[in-house]
Amino acid sequence: MTKQEEIREGILNWLLCSTNLSQCKASSGADSILRKLHSQGVVIKVDRELPKVCNKLNPIARADEQQDMLKAGYIAVEPLVEVCEHDWIKLRNKAITSGEICTKCKAIRPESVEP
Ligand SMILES: [Zn+2]
Repeated sequence: MTKQEEIREGILNWLLCSTNLSQCKASSGADSILRKLHSQGVVIKVDRELPKVCNKLNPIARADEQQDMLKAGYIAVEPLVEVCEHDWIKLRNKAITSGEICTKCKAIRPESVEP
C-alpha cells in the first residue's frame, strides 16, 4: 500500500466512523478532501538519498556538501494525489456534459470554454 493509499484509507475510516455517510459518499468525500489538499500544495515528505554531489578531487567535500543540504532544509516530497496521465474517451450523458471521461481515473474532462 502506497503512502497516498494509506492516507486516503485513514481519511475514509475517519469519515465512516465519525459521520453517517454511506461507504460510497464517504469514499467520494475522501477523494474530494485529498484533491482539495493537493490543490493547496500539500505534499508527503519522504525519506530518500540525498542527490550525489560530484567532487572527484575531494570526496570528503562531497559528504560536507550533502550535510550542508540537510542544514539548508533539503527534503524530498511526493504528491499527495497520484497525478493521472488522462486517457480521454468520448462519452456523453447527464453527468458528463463535456462528452469526455478518463478511462483510468474516471475524471470528467472540464468543458472547454469557447472564446
Ligand atoms: Zn485520468
